Amino acid sequence: MTIAEEEIRKFENHNCAENNVFYQAMEEVIYSIAPLLQSDEKYRKHGIMERLVVPDRVIKFKVTWLDDNNIIQVNTGYRIQFNNALGPYKGGLRFHPTVNEGVLKFLGFEQILKNSLTGLHIGGAKGGSDFDPKGKSDFEVMKFCSAYMTELHKYIGARIDVPAGDIGVGSREIGYLFGEYKKITSTYEGVLTGKPFFFGGSLMRPEATGYGAVYFTESMLEMEGKEPLMGKVCTVSGAGNVAVHAIEKLTQIGAVPVACSDSKGTIYDSRGIDVELLKDIKLNKRQSLTKYAEVHAEAKYIPIEEYPEGGHAVWDIPCYAAFPCATQNELTEIDAQNLINNGCVSVTEGANMPSTPEAISLLQSHKVCFAPAKAANAGGVVVSEFEMSQNAAMSKWGFAKVDERLKETMQMICKRVALTAKDYGVEGNYVDGANIAGFKKVADAMIAEGI
Ligand code: GLU
Repeated sequence: MTIAEEEIRKFENHNCAENNVFYQAMEEVIYSIAPLLQSDEKYRKHGIMERLVVPDRVIKFKVTWLDDNNIIQVNTGYRIQFNNALGPYKGGLRFHPTVNEGVLKFLGFEQILKNSLTGLHIGGAKGGSDFDPKGKSDFEVMKFCSAYMTELHKYIGARIDVPAGDIGVGSREIGYLFGEYKKITSTYEGVLTGKPFFFGGSLMRPEATGYGAVYFTESMLEMEGKEPLMGKVCTVSGAGNVAVHAIEKLTQIGAVPVACSDSKGTIYDSRGIDVELLKDIKLNKRQSLTKYAEVHAEAKYIPIEEYPEGGHAVWDIPCYAAFPCATQNELTEIDAQNLINNGCVSVTEGANMPSTPEAISLLQSHKVCFAPAKAANAGGVVVSEFEMSQNAAMSKWGFAKVDERLKETMQMICKRVALTAKDYGVEGNYVDGANIAGFKKVADAMIAEGI
């Protein structure tokens, strides 16, 4: 039995196998770090992998709230505090009907390694609820957030666990959650990041993940000797915070992002996406992308039903660089094949684990530069840490300082990932590089801190 198979067997004992996406994320990491486990006995001797797969704490609670028709609604809330070897637990909250323990375990586990890669002192966590903010009134969202925080406040704190946003949790939700925390505890502290700027947030937090993914890509293309993004056609999936800001940064640097998508369809605008219109439709008004085509008649709208099963229209549009920024497992093997056929040179994961393992293998075997989420989308949590620093020092950084530090950090992550891959004989493989570099730092801290 190989070292990787041995480790996988151990974690199957911890009932992880039932959680599909978690299993997928674990398996990828175990195969990546096998050379490290093989070459350095200390990681096996201290049972690090086995200790890492079990979260420190899984907090699960009932959230009861009253909707606008005075009907009692019940949802399930979670916070998974995975590992705090490197610093306070840190990671977002996701409010979406697909949220369950398995999904949050996968996201929390990824967050440990992502946060480790940033070089900052933050541990890994994730939380959320199966509550769907879509179609709810502001007042209902506020009541849900208050009820959620009534339970969550017991477990978090500026030096304990600092949640932030994720899918379904933006500055509106963070504002309501923060307000309730303050009311219950009477403390005004940086217990959540992603706060609006005027009451303690950091400039550029909303832009950070999307901008960071573009900075990472530029750095990766340079390291791999490929042409930069300027003047190149790019495609982006999703139309949420990450996608919109990736499109914005691509436009600023002179690239041409021609596509984006939501759960119902894809927009293809060959002149380049009108980012101000997109922001207004998706981030301000929370409308469907069909509105985009209503304003720009030249743009093509492709409803999801019009595209064959197993693939996605957005990945069938020729591009130089692709940015999956929607959700997990959205880029399949069929999509990867279409990207390859159309001459795509790089794929950068803006969402968490948007590419299936089969898609990643295919892209890598065709020498497409592939930037995995835990490295490429770390920009969000990086600026979250900047927010924690500013809150702790009661200070405010200007836009230029945040942007410069974000760019520097993304370049540093890219370099570290590429060099680690080279050191372990897998040059150009950013998946293995990210997993090994991220794991090593957490593992060293766990060993140094004892059992
Ligand atoms: N949800 C984001 C992520 O997946 C940000 C987490 C944070 O800022 O704590 O990295």
